[in-house]
Amino acid sequence: MPVATVSGTPVDTGHWIGGERVESAGRFTSFSPIDGRALGEFCRGGPAEADSAVRAAAAAFGQWRRTSPARRAELLHRIADEVERRTPELAAVETEDNGALLRSHLRGVMPRVAHNFRFFADWLTGELRHPEFDTRGHRNRVSWDPAGVCALITPWNAPLMLASWKIAPALAAGNTVVLKPAEWSPMTASLLADITAGAGLPDGVFNVVQGLGPEAGAALCAHPDVRRISFTGSEPTARRIAAAAAGNLTPVSMELGGKSPLLVFSDADLDLAVDLAAEQFDNAGQVCLAATRILVHSPVAAEFTERLRAAVRGLRQGDPRQPETGLGPNIHPDHVARVDGFVRRAVAEGAEVLEGGGPNADLGGTYYRPTLLANAPAGAEILREEVFGPVLTLEEFGSEDEGVALADNTRFGLAATVVTGDPARAERVSAALTAGTVWVNCFFVRDLRAPFGGSRRSGVGREGGTWSFDFFCDVKNTVTSPKGWM
Ligand code: NAD
Repeated sequence: MPVATVSGTPVDTGHWIGGERVESAGRFTSFSPIDGRALGEFCRGGPAEADSAVRAAAAAFGQWRRTSPARRAELLHRIADEVERRTPELAAVETEDNGALLRSHLRGVMPRVAHNFRFFADWLTGELRHPEFDTRGHRNRVSWDPAGVCALITPWNAPLMLASWKIAPALAAGNTVVLKPAEWSPMTASLLADITAGAGLPDGVFNVVQGLGPEAGAALCAHPDVRRISFTGSEPTARRIAAAAAGNLTPVSMELGGKSPLLVFSDADLDLAVDLAAEQFDNAGQVCLAATRILVHSPVAAEFTERLRAAVRGLRQGDPRQPETGLGPNIHPDHVARVDGFVRRAVAEGAEVLEGGGPNADLGGTYYRPTLLANAPAGAEILREEVFGPVLTLEEFGSEDEGVALADNTRFGLAATVVTGDPARAERVSAALTAGTVWVNCFFVRDLRAPFGGSRRSGVGREGGTWSFDFFCDVKNTVTSPKGWM
């Protein structure tokens, strides 16, 4: 069986199906965004591997759904224990594979992965109530029954974090899972397979098919025995998945992209506003929630712009494994070319480059300089499309109404951030915006009890707390007449 060794950790590069490593003939290579090194040759699955993984998951479903919720929760806690124990390895491998900062993986991301497993285990056994009520003497009882095999399709920007966000509620609810991780970051899914086996998860409950989206991913989404598809990724892929799912009327949940606004009002704490705007360069801008459109109230526009420019110049770009690095590489040279294309077309349309504006030639082909653009004309591509790189635009507004209109002038609706010192304004503006999440004077605070998802083209459905179980389950109402007992 092929194995890649990354930062001293052996990573199996086969599929994980029915509790066994499975090889397939084709291969794809995973490269490190840090320096372009080839990290490993992964097995490239297609319809045959997708089918055998769905069969394995379907075969395991009967026993897993009958396993008591307490036992399922216990196994998920064991997975979390193991994620915590192996955090240094998982963090190092993830950083090599997707280029995000090692210190973020160590301190924030991997602890969050463990939390995802613990949270949904506890929610299942604690918070998930089964409402009961009477209708003309008949007893109603609402229950959440597992749906069956769930196909989970995930992106590369936060591979294990986003996968675990889906895996944990799906498994907790009693479903079985086939995960198709992104081909640019396949490593930690393979390590998670080892972890689930070590934790004692029965064979076939969790499966991984490695491969390319149009091959392995498409085959999974079109499979008639898949009962749920949970997808996080881009809008064009979402359309293809929706079309594949339509064939079997498979329910789909979609977490997609954004072009989120950050509104800075004249009554805002400008230090806070600058910090929040600079935070949008986290993960080299490859964050779905990133507020990439910075909208500034005219009275403070000049001062805010100068301060933000200074903050951007102060960002230290470099090797994501070094603790002093503030901004690492982007995922792949092709992605950098895409980001640069957006910036070049923005300039051609009349935008002004205030900071950055091109690749960082000192560091190599995947490092793009943190970029601030201003004066893009209304309707310009750079104000409409998701760049998914370290590129922010600045726009100015005169009145509160103008600010809200500008913020809402997008086909997306994932998130919005409002920076103001006036609670009444915060209330008015957040009520008026179309977004799955609105942050007031903060950013990226995410509680798993809260709903998460996008409005408009940013998504379909919500995840988090009971919303996750609503999606991954067949919610059933059982109505009982007392007559039968008499
Ligand atoms: P992508 O759509 O290119 O790929 C996502 C996944 O879909 C990958 O695993 C890929 O292999 C797979 N895929 C591709 N074609 C497929 C097909 N035809 N059938 C089935 N699967 C297919 O997205 P990406 O470039 O990996 O990720 C970036 C995008 O993800 C951005 O738009 C970003 O905003 C979005 N995102 C959203 C959230 C959120 O929670 N809303 C979180 C992270 C990323």
